[in-house]
Amino acid sequence: MALKPLDIFKLLPKTNCKECGFPTCLAFAMQIAMGKEDIKKCPHVSEETKAKLLQEAAPPMKVISIGKDNEKINLGGETVMFRHEKTFYNSPAIGCIISDSMSDEEIDNSIKNTIDMNYDRVGVTLKSNIIGIKDDGKGKFIDIVKKTSQTAKGLILMSQNPSILNQAIPLCKDVNPILFYADTVNYQEMGSIAKQFSVPIVVKGKSIDELVDISKKIAEMGVENIILYPEGSINQVYKNLILIRRAAILGKIKELGYPVLTIPTFMTDDYLKETMYAGNFIAKYGGIILLSKLTGEALFPLFLERLNIFTDPQKPMATPEGIYEIGKPDSKSPVFVTTNFSLTYFIVSGEIENSKTGAYLLIQDAEGLSVLTAWAADKFNAETIATLVKKSKIEEKTSNKTLILPGMVAQIMGELEEELPGWKIVLGPREAAHIPVFLKDLSST
Ligand code: SF4
Repeated sequence: MALKPLDIFKLLPKTNCKECGFPTCLAFAMQIAMGKEDIKKCPHVSEETKAKLLQEAAPPMKVISIGKDNEKINLGGETVMFRHEKTFYNSPAIGCIISDSMSDEEIDNSIKNTIDMNYDRVGVTLKSNIIGIKDDGKGKFIDIVKKTSQTAKGLILMSQNPSILNQAIPLCKDVNPILFYADTVNYQEMGSIAKQFSVPIVVKGKSIDELVDISKKIAEMGVENIILYPEGSINQVYKNLILIRRAAILGKIKELGYPVLTIPTFMTDDYLKETMYAGNFIAKYGGIILLSKLTGEALFPLFLERLNIFTDPQKPMATPEGIYEIGKPDSKSPVFVTTNFSLTYFIVSGEIENSKTGAYLLIQDAEGLSVLTAWAADKFNAETIATLVKKSKIEEKTSNKTLILPGMVAQIMGELEEELPGWKIVLGPREAAHIPVFLKDLSST
């Protein structure tokens, strides 16, 4: 159960000393309750109280970190059933399985795809971030581990052979590899390896009861990081994923409070179906999704779905304020100005690029709002634009001094001319798609 502000307040010193950066202990308690601040910021709370608070405020689903330090992947840590209730925090890791029964060429191509298949979208790099390495007893497992450990991706070691795992784990220990799997038969042996190397382990079960039973036994062995793998057909798995999330978030059943692994490729031989299943698991509630292979036509829509679902619905996506050089602008190039709503930035910059004319794009911080919304909220007006023009020193880059306003805000032109003497203020098109024609006309005048 999430702690209430008053519960937290009771544990604070109540001296209102402000050292935490808040005017009162109560204000600080409210921030902690909302998950926006850390109790560690109060230097006057005892270690015992800190530990108590951290334990009580711990999310109902454990967060497990894998991957290299500079490319950490957090799995789990979700606190709600539905995104609109708050937000989802940690997007599922998506990747493919590389088996040692594949040819050397197929193995190398799969590793290359995992590294190369990246897409830039609204300033975010979309990429695959995990690899399952499957031991089919062909003797190449260790070689694949060595090669994939260089990719900085998360690794799942899909072998039940203890001697192979004992060799493999030290080779990739820095990515915190996940052991696959412990079940009713082998949980003691696999749990001991996970404990010995302090690595996460997948618990496999055909039913919820089986998962609860094994995860309890593994946790009692002292293994902290568990990933659940409900096995079965798409229907069973989909149903169990929802039951697991409900049990973890609403029922507080701690044996199910872990991220979940899904493997669509084990449910069908049809790659199209596999991709559709993966799409379902992004929405509900896969923490890791393993495909048989990575292809652009499957990955791109899955990445987009993941991006859409795992962005915070309360925060518009924003581009940093500043000057962006599009094409190869020079001292005669005009300056476009718009707000920092990411979609606006990408559409406008894309159309300037399409025009093959160099231009400067001045992005104003309007809290991620689009042009009309920002203007209506008085966050994008003659004064804010003029302030940015002066602050950014854009004048040092262009002697042209032509500032192009979004066509939607014609009403601020006159005021802006007064705010920026010496600048020629031009009203741009209402639709970004008309920018190439607009720029062509502008250069011919
Ligand atoms: S630092 Fe601690 S005691 Fe001081 S105001 Fe903040 S919460 Fe209260």
